[in-house]
Amino acid sequence: MEYKTIAVLGSTGSVGTQALDVVESFPERLKVSVLTAGSNADLLIKQALQFQPRAVVIVDDSQYLCVKEALAGHPIAVSSGEAALEEVVQYEDIDIVLNAIVGSAGLRSTVRAIQSGKDIALANKETLVVAGELVMGLARKHQVRMLPVDSEHSAIFQCLTGEEANPIEKIYLTASGGPFRGKDLDFLSSVTKQQALKHPNWSMGAKITIDSASLMNKGLEVIEAKWLFDLDVSQVDVIVHPQSIIHSLVQFRDGSMKAQMGLPDMKLPIQYALTYPYRWENTFERFDFANFASLTFEPADTKTFRNLAIAYEALRQGGNSACVMNAANEIVVDAFLKEKVSFLGMSEVIEKTLERVQHVATPTLEDYLYADQESRRIAQELI
Ligand code: NAD
Ligand code: MG
Repeated sequence: MEYKTIAVLGSTGSVGTQALDVVESFPERLKVSVLTAGSNADLLIKQALQFQPRAVVIVDDSQYLCVKEALAGHPIAVSSGEAALEEVVQYEDIDIVLNAIVGSAGLRSTVRAIQSGKDIALANKETLVVAGELVMGLARKHQVRMLPVDSEHSAIFQCLTGEEANPIEKIYLTASGGPFRGKDLDFLSSVTKQQALKHPNWSMGAKITIDSASLMNKGLEVIEAKWLFDLDVSQVDVIVHPQSIIHSLVQFRDGSMKAQMGLPDMKLPIQYALTYPYRWENTFERFDFANFASLTFEPADTKTFRNLAIAYEALRQGGNSACVMNAANEIVVDAFLKEKVSFLGMSEVIEKTLERVQHVATPTLEDYLYADQESRRIAQELI
């Protein structure tokens, strides 16, 4: 049987480990060529011993020797540093690069993988938030597929299958509303990181969990959707759906709407991205109507959760604005997790950073990387 060979960037994270669960369940059809991690050497070693990839990268240089020694005697190349990520995605045997790195740190490896003609399974939404126009232009130029892993975008992508001749009128991205849905500013002014880390429906990495609590995650997803599906800002709407069963909806120009639904389990969109255009049989838990007597919907509260409004505004401004917003957000989320900024303080720092960084209307990759660094510096100063 023909199999697909995959590079998993960020294999030690929430999406990365779930992707390896999917790979493990199809030993005849999916094969791992590359695994990479930021700094979790122990887990990377364990994964490498199990999946026997051709190469592993540990980005943190200080862990290189530890990984190298543990894998001595295995035919697995070990390298470290950011540049190594750009090397390994180019290997000839790779069919799909699954990018599950968190943050704008994932941008360069996506770009390099596209330039080497690899299809991309994209979890790293920050790639498109920072440089969506440039990245989608490259994908078209190199004729590679951009296969969404984010559950909402996978839902839209699935709804669009067979609709190639039918333009989208509008899409609705669903949002769970996070742990603070329905709360007011007074409540939010004193929430702790422990409260923010308790997501009602999904178990995810720390950064995206905080983004979900602040609705920045939905803001990032609006921007991601705009570029993935080539939409105008006015065509992307957000609806809060606390049960996270309907993963998103598309409305066509005859008014008909298609939705994709299922239990909230990232393994499903991960698998679809890896097996597209096919659906492979699996044993994931099935949806049971008895457990969900009602599915409910409500508008998003962008007055209380400013981040979603900030993201729409950054998208309208265009140029490097979303890149600046994203970088400032990465800094404030990190600071919030270290208890150096308050929950509401995060939005203030992001807005001030947007005011202070110089706007560039048509940035190059270098301009984006510069804006990213500059915004991090300014956001850090503001905290
Ligand atoms: P995570 O923090 O659990 O894992 C991140 C991975 O990236 C780890 O393997 C880590 O070692 C690696 N990494 C961290 N910093 C790095 C750096 N500077 N350079 C290279 N590698 C680095 O994150 P996650 O929750 O798995 O999310 C990964 C991406 O997927 C994010 O962009 C997130 O928004 C997106 N996403 C996640 C989920 C989810 O359910 N977790 C759902 C949809 C989208
Ligand atoms: Mg999502």
